[in-house]
Amino acid sequence: MELLAVTDTLTGLANRRQFDAYLDREMAHSRRHKNSFCLLMIDADHFKRVNDQFGHRRGDEVLAHLAQTIEGSLRAEDCAFRVGGEEFAVLLRDAGEISGLGAAERLLAAVRRDPFRSGNDVHDLTVSIGVSALTPRAEVSRELLVARADAALYAAKGGGRDRASVDFSTLSERIASV
Ligand code: GH3
Ligand code: MG
Ligand code: MG
Repeated sequence: MELLAVTDTLTGLANRRQFDAYLDREMAHSRRHKNSFCLLMIDADHFKRVNDQFGHRRGDEVLAHLAQTIEGSLRAEDCAFRVGGEEFAVLLRDAGEISGLGAAERLLAAVRRDPFRSGNDVHDLTVSIGVSALTPRAEVSRELLVARADAALYAAKGGGRDRASVDFSTLSERIASV
C-alpha cells in the first residue's frame, strides 16, 4: 500500500506526491551541504495528437514508453517523477544550470531516437524541457524553483518545442551578489 501511494500506476515512476516530498528533502539537503541541484520540467510535445489519432489506450502505452526512455537516460542518483498527465519532472543532484542543460540535451536526444513502435505504427516522440537550478546561497522557495522551471518550459514550447530552455535567474543573483 505504501508503494502504491507513491508510485504512478501507468508509468511506474514516482508520483506527484513523492515529487513534493522529495523536493523538500533535496532543498534542505542542498542548504545543509552547500551543494546545488537542478530541476527539469518535461512536457511531451503535441501529445493530444496521439490520443486524437490513435485513441486514449495507445496514448497510455506511449506515455509509459516515454517514461521509460526518460528514466533510462538518467544517472542512478537522479530521480524521475510523473507530475501530471504528460508531464514529468527530473531532479539532478549536485548540478547547476550548465550540467542541467547537458542532462536535458541528453534526454532530448534519447527521446528523439526512441520512438514508440506497435505493429506497423511508429510514433516519433519529442519533449520540451525547462531547467532551473537552486544554489544554497540563493534563497529560492520551492514554489519559485518550480515556477522558474515552468516558465523555462513555456519558453521551450514557444521556441518551437523539442528543445530545452534554462532559467538563469539563480545564476544572475549569484553574480550580482559577488
Ligand atoms: P504541447 O506540445 O503544447 O504540450 O501539446 P499537447 O497536445 O501535449 O498539450 P495539451 O495540453 O493540449 O494536451 C495534453 C494531452 O495529453 C491531452 C490529454 O488528453 C493527454 N493526456 C494527459 N494525460 C494522459 C494520460 O494519462 N493518458 C493519455 N492517453 N493521454 C493523456
Ligand atoms: Mg502538458
Ligand atoms: Mg504536452
